[in-house]
Amino acid sequence: MTSIGFIGLGVMGREMARHLVRAGHRVQAHDARPEAVDEIAREGAVAAHSVAEAAEGAELVITMLPDTPQVEEVVLGPAGLLAHPPAGRLLVDMSTISPTATRRMAAELARAGIVMLDAPVSGGPSGAKGAKLSVMIGGPEDGLARARPVLEVMGSTLVHVGEVGAGQTVKACNQLVCAMNLQAICEALALGRAAGLDLDKLRDVLLGGAASSWMLQNLGPLMLAKDASAGFRIDLKLKDLRLAGELAFELGVPLPGTALATSLYLEARAHGEGANGNQALFRVYDRLSNQAEEPSGQPPPAR
Ligand code: NAD
Repeated sequence: MTSIGFIGLGVMGREMARHLVRAGHRVQAHDARPEAVDEIAREGAVAAHSVAEAAEGAELVITMLPDTPQVEEVVLGPAGLLAHPPAGRLLVDMSTISPTATRRMAAELARAGIVMLDAPVSGGPSGAKGAKLSVMIGGPEDGLARARPVLEVMGSTLVHVGEVGAGQTVKACNQLVCAMNLQAICEALALGRAAGLDLDKLRDVLLGGAASSWMLQNLGPLMLAKDASAGFRIDLKLKDLRLAGELAFELGVPLPGTALATSLYLEARAHGEGANGNQALFRVYDRLSNQAEEPSGQPPPAR
């Protein structure tokens, strides 16, 4: 049994922490939302009311927070992990944040003898629920050797991709592939619909061939059912595209496809879709093809 501090119990973190509890680990769980802490405590975790309480006596701390500023606050802030390090002096950040900020934080922590790994994930809420996440890990081998048995409880693919920050860099690559793949699916559905195709059949046959993808498999049914509500929020997707864009800018690499996809997700957010799942991109294509439903739920008038 390992004693683990777990900070960030949102859509992903609560599922991941749940697996650690079920695997018999002592999980000291903390979130800015007390109701999220209460919920996991009812399932056997130890309620931690601060970062310090989550870290106290822990062999490692895992963070699963929205963006760079929240991780910086939890790590470097006055009530954070630098001031209250876990006993094992190991931090595994599984959030998706800036690789540059990750390297900066790791250097600051290293001066205090604390090891940081970046270990962002792919697989979405279903991957978190099924403990089937793909984990891209940056940082020193010895830190990973200590964290590996814990990470294996939450993920089915663990790849050590390089030094600290490399995990976040791989995640940026992952996200631009996901964003453009989803965009391509929206375009195929918009074209198929205009041509009068049966879209369920279109999806079925694409899944059997070279156009198959995780997005088509998992988000295709939601798009066909016009269900924009749940899943990986448009706001988080935009955050990830911003991170990829910033990295591309730092390195001087043109990413024209990513820039276009970013604009389309921005259009979705401008129409109030920020809190919806990223499959809500299909609504952008509804608007582009004059297929958006009227507020009454009726189809748009013919032009
Ligand atoms: P979320 O917004 O649902 O959860 C984040 C949690 O962090 C919330 O419960 C929030 O209350 C808590 N929090 C925020 N600031 C805090 C602070 N200062 N101290 C303590 N708790 C704080 O987000 P999520 O969907 O679980 O995603 C978490 C991370 O994982 C993000 O970086 C996201 O990009 C990444 N990710 C998400 C998915 C997905 O499908 N949702 C998939 C892969 C990766």
